[in-house]
Amino acid sequence: MISILHSIQDWAVNFFGLDDLIKIIRSGDYSTFRTLKGILAIVAPLFPILLLMEFLMACLYRKLKMIDYKISFFSYVLNMAIGRFISIAMVSYCIGLFSPHALFKSAFTWYWFLYGYVIWEFAHFIYHFLAHKIRLLWCLHSTHHAPEQMNLSVSYAHFFLEAPYADLIRTSICILMGVDPPVLFLIMFVDGFWGGMIHIGETLGKRARCGPFYRFIMTPSHHRVHHGRNPLYMDTNFCNLLNIWDRIFGTYQPETDEVPIEYGITRPIQENSFLDAYFGEIVLLAKDISKAPGLKNKLLYLVKPPGWSHTGEHKTASLIRRSYLKSKKDLETLGK
Ligand SMILES: [Zn+2]
Ligand SMILES: [Zn+2]
Repeated sequence: MISILHSIQDWAVNFFGLDDLIKIIRSGDYSTFRTLKGILAIVAPLFPILLLMEFLMACLYRKLKMIDYKISFFSYVLNMAIGRFISIAMVSYCIGLFSPHALFKSAFTWYWFLYGYVIWEFAHFIYHFLAHKIRLLWCLHSTHHAPEQMNLSVSYAHFFLEAPYADLIRTSICILMGVDPPVLFLIMFVDGFWGGMIHIGETLGKRARCGPFYRFIMTPSHHRVHHGRNPLYMDTNFCNLLNIWDRIFGTYQPETDEVPIEYGITRPIQENSFLDAYFGEIVLLAKDISKAPGLKNKLLYLVKPPGWSHTGEHKTASLIRRSYLKSKKDLETLGK
């Protein structure tokens, strides 16, 4: 019984990110709170506390549907068992492998932090863009897009191999571009925190546009757009905190009041099925590959965007969005 209580306590300390905070309090050296380490120890539990608050508020307003948390919850449990460890191993491996080939060496200063963040955001854009545009990688990423409601728990909805894939791309690019590993870890912390916060649901943040910052950063509103399956919103807003790369690569899309966001992926998902959200895309890819004639077509299914078909009847996100924008433009021209 006592060992079960200890396990629950360990899990709670881990889930709420309280480890460092407890260590500092136990040491009695409160001056640590004035250092970066102390500040990070205070910030770490904020996200899980907000998640809990959002959950409790949904209960209070009688809006809570356990089903909205199902995909996230099971993904969290699965990833806790394996995904996290592979991801940490991948980061260490990439740092060791690419550090000797870095373009130059940088240091732990505020300006190298800013440089590192722009590079990180670029690397994040690349990982995320490819995750939407290459069918095999979409199989890893689609779990995150499966939930049809938005709340903070969605930031836990990931296929277990997605984090190692993301870390392979992001860590390799940053290390090769000379980002100092301690700076990289700080960036990962900020990115992880904000990456969770942008999933805030309407219970805690109705419009969540962050006032004047809307123009410069990726707000929850922008990320809600990214989770939209509406033709206008598909495959847009790939950045996480800074929106510069979406603006440069033409994938920036603000939320518009005329198009209310419909969350989820375009294919019908078996209602309330975690297994379909987690493995559904892999099953569909395997079916397409087995039906495709010839080795070339089979291989193309792996690397072409979701919606590509060997018959030529493509239904990719780019085609759907382009045809939506064209018909909207045609209607506007007719109206003039
Ligand atoms: Zn995505
Ligand atoms: Zn998301």
